Amino acid sequence: MPGGDVAIVGAGLVGLATAAALAARGANVTLITTHHPGEASRAAAGMLAPGMESGTGPATAFALAARDLYPSYIEALAEVTGTMVPLNREGVLELFADPEDAARRRSAPFSNGAEWLTTAQLRDLEPALAPVAGAVLYPLDGAVDNVELVRALHMMAESNPGIAMVDEAATGVELDGVRPAVRLSSGATVDAGIVVVAAGAWTPGLAGLPRSLPVEPVRGQMISLDAAPLRHVAYCGHGYVVPRDSARSVVGSTMEHAGFESHTTAEGLAQLSATAGSICPALAAARTLDRWSGLRPVTPDLLPILGPDPDMDALYYACGHSRNGILLGPLSGECVAALIAGEVPALDLSPFSVSRFSGSPVTV
Ligand SMILES: Cc1cc2nc3c(=O)[nH]c(=O)nc-3n(C[C@H](O)[C@H](O)[C@H](O)COP(=O)(O)OP(=O)(O)OC[C@H]3O[C@@H](n4cnc5c(N)ncnc54)[C@H](O)[C@@H]3O)c2cc1C
Repeated sequence: MPGGDVAIVGAGLVGLATAAALAARGANVTLITTHHPGEASRAAAGMLAPGMESGTGPATAFALAARDLYPSYIEALAEVTGTMVPLNREGVLELFADPEDAARRRSAPFSNGAEWLTTAQLRDLEPALAPVAGAVLYPLDGAVDNVELVRALHMMAESNPGIAMVDEAATGVELDGVRPAVRLSSGATVDAGIVVVAAGAWTPGLAGLPRSLPVEPVRGQMISLDAAPLRHVAYCGHGYVVPRDSARSVVGSTMEHAGFESHTTAEGLAQLSATAGSICPALAAARTLDRWSGLRPVTPDLLPILGPDPDMDALYYACGHSRNGILLGPLSGECVAALIAGEVPALDLSPFSVSRFSGSPVTV
């Protein structure tokens, strides 16, 4: 982007992906970030599962394109950083324990290559799974190691001459001056032609935004176990198991409205252990390696908020990715960067405009 400069608040996956895509277009980016307990991008399970999200239309098209961007995205990142982020495209299995649920799903439409598996087919594919009434295979879905992905993007940002990292909390945005700015906790400001807010669940807390953003933290607890008996991501109504590498699986997750409390609870951890054993009995005996929780930045319709503010040309949103931000983050970053650079993005961002929410603008 000739001569442009952009300040981004938040270096989770979405802020990092946006910074990378802007720097690739020649922009000078200042990436302002600080750590908060419960940051979602490191806490997530890393599932890339648009097939299971019901629905059609632009949001589904965006999710499928986001999944299909992953192989080339990870290769390009490896060329810059030397780190090949693990990507599992074995497929995702949706399991139905209850025969009535299985029959209902079997009679519903199948799209994007999804296929019904009989119990015998499922046993051949994943012998370690507990018996179920039936399953759907989403063959193009999978999972990425989101911890490695965030680490690689950080490495890229730190070595990229177009990206300056500022390790400090932003307290707000100033949009009424000649040039927009981000105010920092030290009292200093970062001036920029464009400000992008990508601060995950914390985005609505930034002072000076021209409207209230309906983004809420929804806590998810996770555990990792020291066994990897499955090749596929296995998902059932109350949780999932994601094979992380040859020796570890991650198990998730709860959906809790607990404000910004990002600790784990005995009840949540017990629920996850039970989920693991019910999906795959071999995991009932596995040792718990780690436990953590994260805060999903959730919007009322579970879709992200992307693109410019309708009343403030210099302010862009890249937030509210809800429970699919690992899937969507790289494509969101590419499309928001394209818009800022004056290009036509690969996918239409208008379904994700902040204007879809009726929240009235507030006075700056
Ligand atoms: C338990 C769990 C499981 C999940 N599983 C999946 C999954 O399988 N697949 C999937 O696609 N998605 C999943 N998600 C959702 C996904 O993780 C999120 O949608 C995504 O990571 C959001 O990324 P983000 O960059 O917007 O937010 P975050 O990763 O939270 O990053 C925001 C960053 O901004 C920083 N920040 C905030 N405020 C300020 C400020 N004022 N100043 C400076 N910095 C600030 C924060 O410290 C943080 O570093 C899961 C989430 C959770 C919690």
